[in-house]
Amino acid sequence: MTSAAQKIAVVGAGWAGCAAAVELVRIGHHVTLYEATRHPGGRARRVVVDGKTLDNGQHILLGAYTETLRLMRIVGIDIDQAMLRLPLQMRYPEHSGGMDFIAPRLPAPLHLLAALWRAKGLAKEDKLALARFSTTARWMGWRLNTDCTVTELLDRFDQTDRIVRLMWRPLCIAALNTPPERASAQVFLNVLRDSLGARRAASDMLIPRVDLTALFPECAAAFIERRGGVVRYGAAVKAVARTESGWLTRTGNGTPDETGAFDAIVVATQPGQAAGLLEDWPDKNSAAAFGYEPITTCYLQYAPGMRLAHPFFALIDNADENAWGQFVFDRGQLDKNQAGLLSVVISASTEAIALGREALAAAVASQLATAFRLPELEHPEWVKVISEKRATFSCAPGLVRPENATGLDGLAIAGDYTSGDYPATLESAIRSGVKAAQLIGG
Ligand SMILES: Cc1cc2nc3c(=O)[nH]c(=O)nc-3n(C[C@H](O)[C@H](O)[C@H](O)COP(=O)(O)OP(=O)(O)OC[C@H]3O[C@@H](n4cnc5c(N)ncnc54)[C@H](O)[C@@H]3O)c2cc1C
Repeated sequence: MTSAAQKIAVVGAGWAGCAAAVELVRIGHHVTLYEATRHPGGRARRVVVDGKTLDNGQHILLGAYTETLRLMRIVGIDIDQAMLRLPLQMRYPEHSGGMDFIAPRLPAPLHLLAALWRAKGLAKEDKLALARFSTTARWMGWRLNTDCTVTELLDRFDQTDRIVRLMWRPLCIAALNTPPERASAQVFLNVLRDSLGARRAASDMLIPRVDLTALFPECAAAFIERRGGVVRYGAAVKAVARTESGWLTRTGNGTPDETGAFDAIVVATQPGQAAGLLEDWPDKNSAAAFGYEPITTCYLQYAPGMRLAHPFFALIDNADENAWGQFVFDRGQLDKNQAGLLSVVISASTEAIALGREALAAAVASQLATAFRLPELEHPEWVKVISEKRATFSCAPGLVRPENATGLDGLAIAGDYTSGDYPATLESAIRSGVKAAQLIGG
């Protein structure tokens, strides 16, 4: 413990709050981490349904998530055990009219050139368009003078309809959870710069083998407690107030044991909740006004012997054909206890969830049967549709995101929505948590 050790509260044990608390105890501060629910993890957590351990939504990480990987190592996660590392790829089922694009294990940028050269299902003009995009974006330093939508950027870069449909649109929706016609081109370029444009390992795709709570939040909480911190579950902070010497938090009705006195505080909730707690926060109104996009994951259980040819595939979604799934993961190839379980992701899923859960699950099963030419996929033994209505903020062009520093002494905010290069992701949450901790306690 350093002589400058402070008493610090962190409100919210999502990935941002866990990251902030880990960083603070590491520096040597006394930390109390408050979490409203009974478990850590927030929007990336384990759920148990009918005795099956699932996630609230299938997640995928990138090799470019440097802060997430660093913190995972600090709290004791064996990254190679916890996640399957695959080279950058966009593979569609063989007869579905898609493409097969996979980067070989060569140094950057050769891995991309070779992937392009070998890609199946693309015409010469599609490959040239993709190469042109990558060269021009590099030449521009991945920066735009003025932000615009991803659709406008793709038009400007003269991309073919096919490469837009098979590569850019699915990548944009997966990374920004916002359709290209409404998504920020600059944020999209930031993600591409750190994945496609960086060293090969950064473009790798990492798929969790363990549930999301085990992937970081649980080990983070254990790390915090081992370092003398306190983690309080079922402890929603109802009010935060300034005093002459610091900050007070109130859980429950404010009896003495429900009031905490701290030197400093990190509020790591979603922006609307932070705005509700922080009367004097100058960014309060803009934080309360964020728009949101839903993400839906459809889990389908088949007989344990059912196995896809690869751990995951891209799917062609088409609302007119009642085909909603965008990616499918064969969970059995990630965790032997999940043999026969598929998870199908639908990002920016407003239209899809309007169908209703039962109809959506039936549509997804039918889409899988058609895409893989396996009629048995039409009849899963069990299904579960999990929709997160406010999965991420809507990543619009020119969106102004609040800074971690609030202008109020001893108060910082953290969360995937604060100012940064990335859209709402695990990496933006972790980076934000670490930055808030360093501001308050560094
Ligand atoms: C379905 C889905 C799929 C996604 N897929 C991906 C993906 O593939 N890759 C990727 O990188 N990202 C993905 N994301 C985004 C990623 O999960 C989020 O960006 C990240 O989890 C946000 O973390 P956070 O800590 O900023 O916020 P949150 O997770 O929202 O954490 C806030 C925490 O604060 C708690 N809280 C709120 N109010 C209070 C209070 N008053 N007192 C105490 N506690 C409080 C909440 O209970 C919560 O635990 C996905 C998100 C969803 C929902």
